[in-house]
Amino acid sequence: MPSPSGHERDVNDFLTTRLRGLGLEVEEGEPLYPDSGSSAGNLYCRLEGNVPGTPIMLSAHTDTVPSEEEALPEPVIEDGIIRSASRSVLGADDKSAVAAIVFTLEQIVRNSTPQAGIELLLTVGEEGGLRGAKMSSLEGVAAKSGFCLDSTGPVGDVIVKSPSQKTVNATFIGVSAHAGVVPEEGRSAVRAAARAITAMKLGRLDEETTANVGIIRGGEAVNVVPDRCTVHSEARSHSREKLESQVAHMIDAFHLAAAEEEVDVELTVIDEFHGFDFSAGGLPIELAERAFTRMGLKTKRTSTGGGSDVNVFNLKGLPCVNLATGMERVHTPDEYISVESLYQMHEFLMALVVEARDVPDEDTAPVDTGGADAAATDESGTDAADADFTADGQMSF
Ligand SMILES: [Zn+2]
Repeated sequence: MPSPSGHERDVNDFLTTRLRGLGLEVEEGEPLYPDSGSSAGNLYCRLEGNVPGTPIMLSAHTDTVPSEEEALPEPVIEDGIIRSASRSVLGADDKSAVAAIVFTLEQIVRNSTPQAGIELLLTVGEEGGLRGAKMSSLEGVAAKSGFCLDSTGPVGDVIVKSPSQKTVNATFIGVSAHAGVVPEEGRSAVRAAARAITAMKLGRLDEETTANVGIIRGGEAVNVVPDRCTVHSEARSHSREKLESQVAHMIDAFHLAAAEEEVDVELTVIDEFHGFDFSAGGLPIELAERAFTRMGLKTKRTSTGGGSDVNVFNLKGLPCVNLATGMERVHTPDEYISVESLYQMHEFLMALVVEARDVPDEDTAPVDTGGADAAATDESGTDAADADFTADGQMSF
């Protein structure tokens, strides 16, 4: 069932039917694109606890990246490996996690497994902007720890650290002119963009910081001095200070190049996601590690250069960890996952439920992941993503 971002309707309907079949009340939030019939909102449901312990939230995203030539997934299993026979992405990112979570809930409900409260949040629009997570409100969530299953790597890997990311979009506005007749009357926006990019520090800047110019678009015809050029760039760092200083450097380079080439430049800075750091531990990490140990699986703490819904949930105040699902080569037609990884995820989730029973709810003090702090000190004036964070004060998933 294909579900590229913004077209999660079918998969949401399928999941809602499955979850309602367990007697659960399923809420769906506002659709990402209200005018599109195939758009959907986040799904939320709660399984009330039947024994003491700490409640947990499980999360995954139901959307995928779009496929090449809009091919449909054709899942096949060969030697224990699930892949798509077509040019489509398989969609294991992140439906492998969705499958493992829903299957586990079904087992728990059918067997009346003792558990201390489980909430499920399935987000839409994760790919390309964590949009569903940003739209969600976690105010009504009882869980003190969240577990997203949305990383590549073997089951057992626990992602404890992720950077913050900002996007810087620049539009150079020059003056067009005939390139052969009156070039001196033109002001080239492409030349200004080239000058800015040449002056920028890009690539891996230090252990914690990276920057990239990913898209340049400009020009209409070879014989016209181009009056428009847009540049899309990003910077990431595990240090908030280093991120701010790199973004300031990029903004300076855009402004300076515009002045030198006598063109205008318009800039937009978007706070894509905020980093988190659980290197020192925290309840979700400890619970995850205990669960892996319980099932006899090797566990490893690791960091990522990417962002996921976890970044948003931590910023919103729910300590949340990201876990590997065993999916590999994601976002490509070669994406695959082993059947064994799916079983391991299910086994892990069952072990997690057992471990959560052993933690008294009153012992679960909130963990400071730096998220709230980072939000308070963010001063970028054109912050579209942050507007999303605060615009929604209601219980809408
Ligand atoms: Zn994902």
